[in-house]
Amino acid sequence: MNTASTQPASEDYTTIIGLEVHVQLQTKTKLFCGCSTTFGAPPNTQVCPVCLGLPGSLPVMNRRAFDLAIRAALALDCTIAPFTKWDRKNYYYPDLPKGYQISQYDLPFSSDGALEVSDPKGAFASRKVRIIRVHLEEDAGKSMHDEAAGKADSRIDLNRAGTPLCEIVTQPDLRSPQEARAWLNELKLLLVYLGVSDCNMQEGSLRVDANINLHIPVGERIAKTPIVEIKNMNSFRSVERALTYEAARQWEEWRATGAELGTSPKQTRGWDDPAGVTRAQRHKEESSDYRYFPEPDLVPVTVSEAEVAAARAAMGEPPTVLRRKLAETWSISAYDADVLVNQGRDLVSYFEDLAARIGEGKLASNWMQQDVLRTLNERGGSIKDFPIRPDALADLVGRVRNGDFDTSRGREIFAEMLASNKTVAEVVGSMGIAAVGDDEMLSLCRELIAANPKIVADVKGGKEQAAAGLIGQAKKKNPNVNPGKVRALCLDLIRQMG
Ligand code: ZN
Ligand code: MN
Repeated sequence: MNTASTQPASEDYTTIIGLEVHVQLQTKTKLFCGCSTTFGAPPNTQVCPVCLGLPGSLPVMNRRAFDLAIRAALALDCTIAPFTKWDRKNYYYPDLPKGYQISQYDLPFSSDGALEVSDPKGAFASRKVRIIRVHLEEDAGKSMHDEAAGKADSRIDLNRAGTPLCEIVTQPDLRSPQEARAWLNELKLLLVYLGVSDCNMQEGSLRVDANINLHIPVGERIAKTPIVEIKNMNSFRSVERALTYEAARQWEEWRATGAELGTSPKQTRGWDDPAGVTRAQRHKEESSDYRYFPEPDLVPVTVSEAEVAAARAAMGEPPTVLRRKLAETWSISAYDADVLVNQGRDLVSYFEDLAARIGEGKLASNWMQQDVLRTLNERGGSIKDFPIRPDALADLVGRVRNGDFDTSRGREIFAEMLASNKTVAEVVGSMGIAAVGDDEMLSLCRELIAANPKIVADVKGGKEQAAAGLIGQAKKKNPNVNPGKVRALCLDLIRQMG
């Protein structure tokens, strides 16, 4: 094995990545009290004796949170435990007023799932990433260190304390930073589709920690670098960058020191986004440091098979199913189905409506991607507020297909419909667009043929593509003509000339 080069090559080692994701469940109230979970309220206005951990207060489980968690776990192909309980995870930190977090330790409500990630562009092979467990727990509060204001004080906002979280832990099945990012995108898409979480990273609704090390073949054995847990990544892009940096750093460290897993402890490193580096943080606690014990104030939860079946029935279609369904129902490619599904359920509904009205999936998909999506990307906003509704767009696409006008004219009409909120008929009227009648078309083509003996001779000589020269001239004489019709008619006329 070549370890002499300074640039790590992919064949020098295998990158082993596992993820731990916390997602906030989309509930109105917290996990064990009735306080609101709305983001952005003034600090410490959404608190009560329960989430502040005042003596004598008792938690009561939020059923809605538990149901959403089950939905998430089922979507991740997990097994739901018939019996699950709560545990206290004890540690001291200013943002944790009770001195412990209510979490789940040895009996999580679900385990043994998987979520597949694939790349329709083929940058990596599809891979099934196993999920070790999904459990429920409450969030802590938020510390704010006011260095920016030039003060040395720190403040605490406990609005978030007690917010319901699902913790999702994967096996170390990911093999590159790109895969990790793609997998996170798929996870987010799934959870948003199912209404489990809004997965808004800016508001802290989705947080990711990543474990990474390298497996390096050395002769007959595999050397494994110490596992590093990376924290503080605030976007999926940061996750990819941090993992890329960390893989290269571990490679360099291994070549310099030969440090291996087992001989040095697991390390925690924080991602410094502006600097683009990971930096060593405090020593990571082992689970024994948390002194877990069963939560005495909450009863265990039992889940029947009937409840699991009901949750499954109410789940809705996850993206993987929807992609397959769109591709099959509308005869579009896996790539096209992927593009549409990745935009969210509302866009899929718009597409299905459009495709049903025009009866042609590929054509609908083309207009969705080239016109609707492009417009949304340029102007922002959501498909729900898109000014051209599926019925109006179907009208336009149908007329283009009929040959009333060509695609570029159709695009002009589309732009005018967007700008003016008019119907196709109104735009056609106001722009002076009229379908060209058969007689008009015939005389135009005769005129073109008479004026272009060279082209006619070329076509007669077998060069049909020479007819393209007639189309440009036809458009100049009458911008409403359909190029396809001009071409077909001119070729016919030339053939009739013998
Ligand atoms: Zn509360
Ligand atoms: Mn956790």
